[in-house]
Amino acid sequence: MATSALLYPNLTLGEDGHLLFDGLDTVALAEKYGTPLILLSEDRVRAHCRTYREAIEAALPRGSRALYASKALSFRQIYPIVESEGLGADVVSPGELATALSAGFPAERIFFHGNNKTDADLRFALERHVGTIVVDNQEELARVDELAGEVGLCQDILLRITPGIDPHTHAKINTGRIDSKFGSAIETGAAEAITAAALAAPHVDLRGFHCHIGSQIFDATPFLDAAEIMISFIARVRSEHGFTADTLNLGGGFGVRYVAEDPEVDIAAHVRVLGEGIARACEAARLECPRILLEPGRSLVADAAITLYTVGSVKEIPGFRNYVSIDGGMTDNPRYTLYQSKYTMLTANRAADPADFTATIGGRCCESGDLLGEGVAIARPARGDLLAVLTTGAYTYSMASNYNRVCRPPIVIVHDGEDRLAVRRETFDDLMACDL
Ligand SMILES: *Cc1c(COP(=O)(O)O)cnc(C)c1O
Repeated sequence: MATSALLYPNLTLGEDGHLLFDGLDTVALAEKYGTPLILLSEDRVRAHCRTYREAIEAALPRGSRALYASKALSFRQIYPIVESEGLGADVVSPGELATALSAGFPAERIFFHGNNKTDADLRFALERHVGTIVVDNQEELARVDELAGEVGLCQDILLRITPGIDPHTHAKINTGRIDSKFGSAIETGAAEAITAAALAAPHVDLRGFHCHIGSQIFDATPFLDAAEIMISFIARVRSEHGFTADTLNLGGGFGVRYVAEDPEVDIAAHVRVLGEGIARACEAARLECPRILLEPGRSLVADAAITLYTVGSVKEIPGFRNYVSIDGGMTDNPRYTLYQSKYTMLTANRAADPADFTATIGGRCCESGDLLGEGVAIARPARGDLLAVLTTGAYTYSMASNYNRVCRPPIVIVHDGEDRLAVRRETFDDLMACDL
């Protein structure tokens, strides 16, 4: 039955077999707003924020908090939602920073990331009094220090450190992971060198360290490994440089369920395990526990959204496969093209029908790699049917493009049984807005 495709409790079946999203009929929403259409459940985002907040308050030292890694899904209305749930925010570019600030997000609760911030980026952030800059490397440290001096302030910073962990093999020291464009590695001595430089820099205030080990991680062990390595690094810095970090930022990366085979992630349980491990490691190092920051992106928004498409052609190629074409694709969701990411899909206007048809879902672009999935089981669709792709809140709209001059879809937020347009559909005028 197709009902196994209803991965989350906010997805239900209407009496007429339509897929309901937070109780609203997806067929009616597609008619109202057109397709492709992204639906985002505000209640689900808020529930995920609360799960993090409550788990962190219960299990981690005072002052610990979650920061929304907003590269996962950045548009103005998402910022007040996470802000009102008590989270901070991560940005990785001045564009994300400008979006967050224009939505009223408090600058002091924003962390500015990125492996190659330009001087213009840094000046933009410093002049707007961004709370913390997460410094990636020595050249950047020197520029932050100089520019902060010019702007006339002492900037709070964290240093991005590479702990040498492969979250998917659980190998503690995997040289492959030192081979990264991000951060300074502990193993090579780069981490200690940049720490010494930061402590000597007059216009920065080093608060602690940051690491981010990966994404779509389903258990707490790699985070715990990273925390232990970072805590022993903090202890060594204390004994060798007399500096005690007050902040340890462990990055993001908790996984979400895209398909029924993926495990369900119990965030609260993982945060508890992490809290116990951190307390143990700090005690062993005779270190007062720093405040812990976590940076969830995907796990706050991915399973809060679905994308609706209208089915066009259905081609059955005997002896080969079935192609179902839709009115979107890699332009609104490049994840299958980039990573062969798996998705759960269903024919939303006939969601009760058995998923008895195996299809390759093709996008509308002139690019044979423009697919949303292969071997996908859905109820056999026909032209005009509605295809729902689940778990599309993270790294889809934020990675969208205008390839083939396709307009980006709107985002409609559903909250308290009401739908509201949060990002309108792009128009041809938008596409040509920069063309002289
Ligand atoms: C991407 C990123 C995150 C968020 O990762 P998710 O897998 O979306 O949770 C957090 N911190 C940093 C530094 C990142 O680059």
